Amino acid sequence: MTNTIAATGSQSTPSQSADSQSTASRSEGAAPFEILHIGGPTVRLRYGNLTWLTDPTFDEPGDYPAGPITLHKLTGPAVSAAEIGTVDAVLLSHDQHPDNLDRSGREFLAGVERVLSTPDAAARMEGVQGLANWEEVRIGEVTVTGVPALHGPEGAEALSGVVTGFVLQGAGLPTVYVSGDNASVDLVTEIAARFDIDVAILFVGAANVDRFGDSDLTLNGRSAVKAAAALGNATIVPVHGEGWAHFSETLDYLTRNFGYAGRADQLVVPTPGVALSPAARI
Ligand SMILES: [Zn+2]
Repeated sequence: MTNTIAATGSQSTPSQSADSQSTASRSEGAAPFEILHIGGPTVRLRYGNLTWLTDPTFDEPGDYPAGPITLHKLTGPAVSAAEIGTVDAVLLSHDQHPDNLDRSGREFLAGVERVLSTPDAAARMEGVQGLANWEEVRIGEVTVTGVPALHGPEGAEALSGVVTGFVLQGAGLPTVYVSGDNASVDLVTEIAARFDIDVAILFVGAANVDRFGDSDLTLNGRSAVKAAAALGNATIVPVHGEGWAHFSETLDYLTRNFGYAGRADQLVVPTPGVALSPAARI
């Protein structure tokens, strides 16, 4: 039996509860596994008696000019950095793009003991530990493995830079895959061949800044369905799907694609600010 969030069957509708308890009271009776979507790519995980945060973004809406490309943030975080509580480790897929690490997200890192990211990020930022592809690190009772990601079409690294995904494993815990900004279904297939993934937090949204024409920088409605198929029975939790102008598809479109493909039961779209509670899935 695996503990995971439930996504299939009439009795296993994912339960979402208001995240209204204080951090202190939560940590005492902390769920072994919980997902709280904060906005964009930012997710707080309770996993293995530790608190984790993916790509920190806590800025209010605003513009991010960088050379010829300006990114526009449209939505602030559902939970502020101050409200998020203590984080034991950050899983930073890459540091070079403000939709994955914005200004206040960068400040947030200063207060976190462990920050895992790409070797490139480790070279650029103090206190960051780089993970090569398939490299493992142990934090508490949890094994974190860096897994490959491709931020666009073949050869995208030259312009998009290097990105990493992560796989979390722990005794009695679901195996969780955090994709980071990845557009490659082939890489998801490769990861699925190495790990029996129970829950996949996929970065979707068809991010596109016209850097590679119509080729998207992250999964889109069609490729996310293919990634879900490659992941078999894994519960798919899409994030990085709204809140920025360059996310060129809606979550509604994504949901319809899963429905048309007969995979609606596999998809659990999190409501920002509302924790997804774990449930037993046999
Ligand atoms: Zn990016």
